[in-house]
Amino acid sequence: MKKFDVVIIGAATSGSFFARKMAEQGFSVKVIEKLSQDKLGKRLDIFHVCKRDFENFGIPVVEEGNPIHAFEFENAYTKSPYDNYPKLTKDIIVGMHMPEYIALMNRWAEEKGAEFEYSAIFEDFVYEEGKVSGVKYMAGEETKTISARVVVDCSGTTSAARKKLPLDYGVETFDISDEDKFYVILRYVKLKNEEDYLKGSTGYPYYKTWIAPQMDPKGAIIGIGACHSYEYAEGIYKEFEKTIKLPEHEITHFERGTTPYTRPPYSFVGDNFIVSGDAACLTKPNNGEGVTSSMVQMMIASSVLGKALRNNDTSKQGLWDINVEYNQKQGADFASTRAILTKAVSAKKDEFEYFFKKDIIFSEKFLSSAAEGPEIKITAYESINIVFGILGGLLTGKLSFRTLKKLVEGLSLGGKLKKLYSSFPDSPSGYDTWVRKADELWKRVGKMG
Ligand SMILES: Cc1cc2nc3c(=O)[nH]c(=O)nc-3n(C[C@H](O)[C@H](O)[C@H](O)COP(=O)(O)OP(=O)(O)OC[C@H]3O[C@@H](n4cnc5c(N)ncnc54)[C@H](O)[C@@H]3O)c2cc1C
Repeated sequence: MKKFDVVIIGAATSGSFFARKMAEQGFSVKVIEKLSQDKLGKRLDIFHVCKRDFENFGIPVVEEGNPIHAFEFENAYTKSPYDNYPKLTKDIIVGMHMPEYIALMNRWAEEKGAEFEYSAIFEDFVYEEGKVSGVKYMAGEETKTISARVVVDCSGTTSAARKKLPLDYGVETFDISDEDKFYVILRYVKLKNEEDYLKGSTGYPYYKTWIAPQMDPKGAIIGIGACHSYEYAEGIYKEFEKTIKLPEHEITHFERGTTPYTRPPYSFVGDNFIVSGDAACLTKPNNGEGVTSSMVQMMIASSVLGKALRNNDTSKQGLWDINVEYNQKQGADFASTRAILTKAVSAKKDEFEYFFKKDIIFSEKFLSSAAEGPEIKITAYESINIVFGILGGLLTGKLSFRTLKKLVEGLSLGGKLKKLYSSFPDSPSGYDTWVRKADELWKRVGKMG
């Protein structure tokens, strides 16, 4: 039986990135991908990343003129439910064609020696003395088995491998249920009037909608991403269309898909096993994007795994630092933001309008900090501003006590989660107690409404 240092399940953005990171350290890497090469990545046409992420993660740079490059813009406005109080944030955003970028990433990993097998469907793990030691997969009619020192699940929302682990393996095996997904619907449109052609994007957090450029400069993408279901998202979209005067347009086509919208498993590692990408629910809590937020975890994971392979200790303990380093930083920031947003989005339309007017949460400073990193930073000045703004809102009847209660609850739970994640246990020994505390807090956060 062929043996690899690392076998990765899934060859999209996460799988290719991890493959390259391990292959460039000199390890033998095999990636198995369910789809055929010509179908890979086609679930989405366009996705975008911040331009600075090319350098941050060392991924292949795509510039204007390259057919993979779709568009670029810098200005992003965020507006109130009645289309007022625009807040500007600046960051260069690059839109790219997903299937072609994934193909490029596959070749980029191959350059360092990673092997890809397409139309190869993971079926189950192979175990030796109760520990993961390889994978069994279907290639056409044939069942194949390969050995691996470590198996990495990058299979997206299906979490094909993570879900198959034994219940006591130390990594949660939950299914990403319909309630735990973000339903994204994109309308690709042609704009009728030249004066409406877009130079940047505009987001409307109350409706969870945005209008942004696309590859055709005379066109736009009007998107919505909401919890529960596509029908629910379309319901909100109707209200959005009724209130906001959109530029005159004609829909050319729709694209839709889901992305995880729930907390990640508390532990990403078991003996000889790691989970990453959408399979590990590493999407950003403010917008459901997951390509580069997953890379943050994979930068940590590839470095820890490299050391573990060299030390010949890929046990749960040997890989544990992946949990520690991730959860204490991005994990803590995401957990806190998720708690705050879950409570804040329950505010009513007029209350959202008031937030915008008074710079409560939706201030330029606040939004810029959310765009730069995962964490919504609240300085002393912001806190005082929020408190005065809220008090003013209560006194003038613009905010209800219910909303105030939710906001305070969100901020308090966010703070507690951040503290808890920042003290993620250094070894598996303190883990069970930590999990009990985390479970308790997440129960109080509840689901995004
Ligand atoms: C409409 C929409 C727009 C989005 N826009 C953005 C954006 O602009 N920017 C951004 O950062 N994020 C965006 N996201 C989120 C982003 O698409 C995901 O977070 C990201 O693509 C996840 O990558 P992944 O490699 O982890 O998973 P996936 O892209 O889902 O890849 C998983 C791979 O595993 C394979 N696989 C599954 N099961 C098996 C199996 N049993 N055996 C072998 N292989 C298997 C699949 O075929 C697939 O190729 C968007 C999501 C949606 C729905």
